[in-house]
Amino acid sequence: MNSIAENLNEIKSSIPKEIKLIAVSKTYPPETIMEAYNAGHHIFGENKVQELVAKYEALPKDIEWHLIGHLQTNKVKYVAPFISLIHSIDSFKLLQEVNKQAQKNSRIIDCLLQIYIAKEETKFGFSFEESTDLLSSSQLKELKNIRIVGLMGMATNTDNTEQIKNEFKSLSEFYKKLQTLNLKLEFLSMGMSSDYKIAIAEGSNTIRVGSAIFGKRNYH
Ligand SMILES: *Cc1c(COP(=O)(O)O)cnc(C)c1O
Repeated sequence: MNSIAENLNEIKSSIPKEIKLIAVSKTYPPETIMEAYNAGHHIFGENKVQELVAKYEALPKDIEWHLIGHLQTNKVKYVAPFISLIHSIDSFKLLQEVNKQAQKNSRIIDCLLQIYIAKEETKFGFSFEESTDLLSSSQLKELKNIRIVGLMGMATNTDNTEQIKNEFKSLSEFYKKLQTLNLKLEFLSMGMSSDYKIAIAEGSNTIRVGSAIFGKRNYH
């Protein structure tokens, strides 16, 4: 088995260097994260607020933390002081709460809209139409302490690579369409361990990779 440093090296050398790599450290203990940190990787993603806050407190303060999982409005206050990027904005109500907590912390918090592209019932997110409406709404302009800087999507969990490719392609085309509407988006967050190569081929510039770096995860 490769070390974490070797896995990181292998992934980084196989992707264009302008791709942003989020090392998804959910379920792995702080010591494991430190192996990646000591290998020079300082960008990590977590999907649960409680776990994220505990790790933020335990680990070096120059880590850039990303929240990639569903965020409940009543938990925004715990991450607002330090979060770098929230990938998982899935309602306007959540965005309003992020804005409110950002204001309390005198911060501007960068956010991605999570877009629903998978053929699965359980995935959170906006449809293309809902997100277009949101991005062009006057209500959004009132939220001065958040910035929408891109989109995030997850493909269906399937072995059908053609389907995964088509789902990523649809999000990538939507992202490009928004650019032509002069919405200055920087991040297209799509791709995980199993599908990041397909995602990059379809235009992703931000990948969220966990098990390919840290090894198999133990869910309990
Ligand atoms: C867990 C997770 C990932 C990473 O998954 P791996 O298969 O371990 O690479 C990426 N994105 C989200 C939203 C996740 O919850």
